[in-house]
Amino acid sequence: MEDNNIKEDGNRKNNFIKNIITEDIENGKNNGKVITRFPPEPNGFLHIGHAKSICLNFGIAEEFKGKCNLRFDDTNPAKEDQKYIDSIISDVKWLGFDWGEKIYYASDYFDKLYEFAVELIKQGKAYVCSLTGEQMREYRGTLTEPGKESPDRSRPIDENLDLFERMKNGEFEDGTYVLRAKIDMASPNINMRDPVIYRIKKMSHPRTSDKWCIYPMYDFTHGISDALEGVTHSLCTLEFQDHRPLYDWFLDEITSPCHPQQIEFARMNLNYTVMSKRKLQKLVENNYVNGWDDPRLPTIAGIRRRGYTPEAIRNFCNIIGVSKKESRIDVGLLENCLRDDLNDNAPRAMAVLRPLRVTIENWEQDRLEELEAQNHPQKPEMGTRKIIFSKNLYIEQDDFMENAPKKFFRLAPGREVRLRYGYFITCKEVLKDKDGNIIELICTYDPATRGGDAPDGRKVKGTLHWVSSEGSIPATVNLYDRLFMAEDPEAESEDFTKNINPESLVRLEGCRVEKFLQDAEPEKAYQFERIGYFCADSQESSKEHLVFSRTVTLKDTWAKVNQIK
Ligand code: ATP
Ligand code: MG
Repeated sequence: MEDNNIKEDGNRKNNFIKNIITEDIENGKNNGKVITRFPPEPNGFLHIGHAKSICLNFGIAEEFKGKCNLRFDDTNPAKEDQKYIDSIISDVKWLGFDWGEKIYYASDYFDKLYEFAVELIKQGKAYVCSLTGEQMREYRGTLTEPGKESPDRSRPIDENLDLFERMKNGEFEDGTYVLRAKIDMASPNINMRDPVIYRIKKMSHPRTSDKWCIYPMYDFTHGISDALEGVTHSLCTLEFQDHRPLYDWFLDEITSPCHPQQIEFARMNLNYTVMSKRKLQKLVENNYVNGWDDPRLPTIAGIRRRGYTPEAIRNFCNIIGVSKKESRIDVGLLENCLRDDLNDNAPRAMAVLRPLRVTIENWEQDRLEELEAQNHPQKPEMGTRKIIFSKNLYIEQDDFMENAPKKFFRLAPGREVRLRYGYFITCKEVLKDKDGNIIELICTYDPATRGGDAPDGRKVKGTLHWVSSEGSIPATVNLYDRLFMAEDPEAESEDFTKNINPESLVRLEGCRVEKFLQDAEPEKAYQFERIGYFCADSQESSKEHLVFSRTVTLKDTWAKVNQIK
């Protein structure tokens, strides 16, 4: 973290890139303009790590009144798919960012990139090489030994031009030729040892179809695309630091409209999960999870389905800041950002996950009474709703104990508790099945305690959530937990799937939730009082069969577990 140039905005303290840009603006660089871009490769769904890059790039554009382009880096048709393009667009939009009128695609520049490649050949700065992949690796040398020059390196310019054109025309098979930049086979930076800039791939592209059978490499494409869009600051993750000389070389050697500045920052890693698309793909394809939007995955689609909010994610990205040092962030911090947001904004509701029947002995058989409940105890402006009290209620099995110790402040034989927004009730009798399992409690209520207070000032220690049989409907609840048990799932074993938490999904049937939740909007979290935050599942829930997913627990239960260990 660098804090040499802290402005009024506290965020700048933990974002060295903003300091660089502030300085550039003060020095009149790029005429004071700021243009960034977010350049996903459409070969998978976006994850929370991408969210960091999105928040950074779009956040900077917003703050400096510039612009951020959404650009698909679609140069490898073998791995790319329209479904990924669609999901990425929807995720960036959901996070709340605006890329303006146009979506950019590197493939839109294929013609120009081809011309730039020809320009390099004409200058004697690129050549067509026929070494096989394996030979090329041999010739490349190592970190300690220089590489060897390809015999094709001295191929005359005309011959290069002719071969390159014929590569484009489809005259050669995949792997027979590549176009390479002619830089320096002895460079200490291996990226500079005559990198490949075009390869033959007889493959249809999602956007350009069969127009091309040669495709440009990432390093060549990326910087030129940046320059063509007038990007001023090209922000990327640290693994590209060693590619920066190449990024600059291409822009210096071609007739580039401008020369963006590449700045690297550290990737975000989270504990208890894996992040790279390749690994996420493995989890999806081998059915460890149910699709890219499984609520246990760190994909944007997954956490969104789980009830995360864009505000919580943006806040999280702000708090963790931007640095040059790799670190692993505690997923507890992300969860806390979510709790902060939901605690403030999620409407309250009552739900009983493991119901125990309660019959109110002194309540008339068919009498239903409407009581008033607040939608948010600290926010009267969020209004109230009616809840129904009746003879047949449900409470949580855990909220009753037959032989309760003194400190158990919930319901037990002979003890009195408050039902939230309802009445005080006292347990009179416990009914059991033939195996001795408790199946029902017979209780009495005190009519004087309506709304939850006793006029004689009598206190009760416990307040329980509850629903009535008439005021609730059945639901299935998915209790999601962390997908991995190990803090670093990849540390102890070659195969990270060995660390999958077998209880990452516990499905509870026969839960009871307040009736109004039948109309709950999918992905919108409610606080089920005393239990946690839950939202209707966008894939599984329907009016006929409600399915709620746990967004996050009320407290960080893992922090405690870890302390005990
Ligand atoms: P992965 O390795 O996870 O599959 P990627 O880097 O290959 O990710 P891209 O689609 O190429 O994925 O990434 C788009 C942008 O998001 C890039 O600028 C990349 O640097 C950035 N990005 C990817 N992962 C992270 C991360 N964990 N933290 C911050 N930025 C990231
Ligand atoms: Mg990538």
